[in-house]
Amino acid sequence: MIGLLTVLSIAISAVAAPVFDNNVPAEIRQQIVTDMNAVGSISSAQASGLHQHIFGPVLGKAYLNFFDTRIKKIGMSSCGSANAVACVIPFLGSNKMWLTQNYIKFSHPQIARSMVVFHEARHSEVKNGNWGHATCPTPFNDPNGNPIKSIWTGAELAGQPACDITPFGSYGSSLIMLKNISKFCTNCSEKVRMDAGIYADDQLKRVTNQQAYSAIRQDLYIR
Ligand SMILES: [Zn+2]
Repeated sequence: MIGLLTVLSIAISAVAAPVFDNNVPAEIRQQIVTDMNAVGSISSAQASGLHQHIFGPVLGKAYLNFFDTRIKKIGMSSCGSANAVACVIPFLGSNKMWLTQNYIKFSHPQIARSMVVFHEARHSEVKNGNWGHATCPTPFNDPNGNPIKSIWTGAELAGQPACDITPFGSYGSSLIMLKNISKFCTNCSEKVRMDAGIYADDQLKRVTNQQAYSAIRQDLYIR
């Protein structure tokens, strides 16, 4: 009886994992399950203030809870672009994440794929207007005067709806997640921490509001 009760209490406390549409290929299911298991194993004793506010601790369980409470279904879509990896399409249901074939084809590290997944999970929040993107400035150049380009596709971002004006949007929140993993994960490999730092630092360029940018700098970069 004790064994049975233990099993029941685990089942009750666990949040249901998302359900896959029948047409999601096995390789894609396997990849996202592997990726979520990796995120789910993250451990740390520290978190920045913004991270604590958005996700809670830098802890696998907190990340899985964040995801599972937002994304209930996973389907396949082109997401409207040959370069897209994943999307949320609010009018088809905000709690469904759509993946494209690029999820297993693009050549970015595992923690970067997870960044995309958590970016999309943030877009599920109807009460926050699905955290719509902001339009990037025109021109949109780095301090050396070179056009800022997408780390994902290489496309120039000037004038594109691919920026954030708040730390709490999809770009902001997912970079806060990765920067925290980079700085504070105690059981990640050097490679994972380094990759997380590279993608976080890159996506910070997309936070174009000065106040929002400064808030993230204060939270994670100026120490
Ligand atoms: Zn987005």
